[in-house]
Amino acid sequence: MQYLYNNTVSNTNFAPYIEEINAMEFENHQDVINDEIFIVTLADARARLINRFNPVINNTSGHTQSLRLGERDIYLIIINEDLCVNMDISAVILHEMGHIVNEFGTEITTLQAWKEKILDSVDRNKEIKLRNEFGADFFAKKCGYAENIIQNLRNSLRQNYDDEELNSRILALESDEIFDFNNLRAHRY
Ligand SMILES: [Zn+2]
Repeated sequence: MQYLYNNTVSNTNFAPYIEEINAMEFENHQDVINDEIFIVTLADARARLINRFNPVINNTSGHTQSLRLGERDIYLIIINEDLCVNMDISAVILHEMGHIVNEFGTEITTLQAWKEKILDSVDRNKEIKLRNEFGADFFAKKCGYAENIIQNLRNSLRQNYDDEELNSRILALESDEIFDFNNLRAHRY
């Protein structure tokens, strides 16, 4: 079953990784990955979707977001190829797929924090984000890519990205803890 669509233009080296994943069986998740997932590079996103992608991608190897294309909702996985040097691209993509099918929760918006008088939204969002990362990593782990993800995280640490979160993720991957949330990420724009 084809989940991933290779829409990269600027870098054509991703094709084998995308094929590798499309050839995998996702047992429990087969029914939930029913939306199309498009893979692009950051350069592609910049060239084709100016101002329509999240700036967080500048500091992370990959990012997933929803996109409305005409009448259709799709997921877009953006790969920041500059930060993926020496990384396992399949593991980067599987982690991003994990964000789609195994989400812990949605972060609190500023509007929600104001309306509902939530004073600790920063701390709560940090925890939600970390749990979402654990869930995404756990999906890749179930696919047999735990060691690949750990290597990618160590690679990011060497580039001095976000020590605390990355170290927590390595510990979670090395533990026997189960992070099966099984929530499908809702489309948000
Ligand atoms: Zn992530």
